[in-house]
Amino acid sequence: MRSESSRATSPEATGLLLEGGCHCGRVRFRVRTSERRALDCNCSMCGMKGFLHLIVTKDAFELLSGSEAITTYTWGTHVAKHTFCRFCGVHPFYTPRSHPDGVDVNVRCLDGDAASRFVVEPFDGKEWEANVDRIR
Ligand SMILES: [Zn+2]
Repeated sequence: MRSESSRATSPEATGLLLEGGCHCGRVRFRVRTSERRALDCNCSMCGMKGFLHLIVTKDAFELLSGSEAITTYTWGTHVAKHTFCRFCGVHPFYTPRSHPDGVDVNVRCLDGDAASRFVVEPFDGKEWEANVDRIR
């Protein structure tokens, strides 16, 4: 496994500071990114959630509030930590299997019209093993 991601946004990169959160507002986060692409994965989990992926390094992500509201679901390899708000059920970010040292932000949970700055690209998560190197 490669340790450094070409896809994850480096914290040194000049980027926008974007904020977002869950539906009830308990979970709030801030992310710095210059990435313009968001991945739309069709795996069994993402297909149900409608999660649009923005993968960043841990130091480009800051949890502002709501750590006590977050709970975690895992399945399969249990590498991905599907964190979500236990009050409203929304998944604003999680730890992805492709980047277990990073954070995967749900572009749909960014404030305002921030999601509109992203170009959505499909990712074939049904064939995860064959395709994951493309996003690492
Ligand atoms: Zn919530």
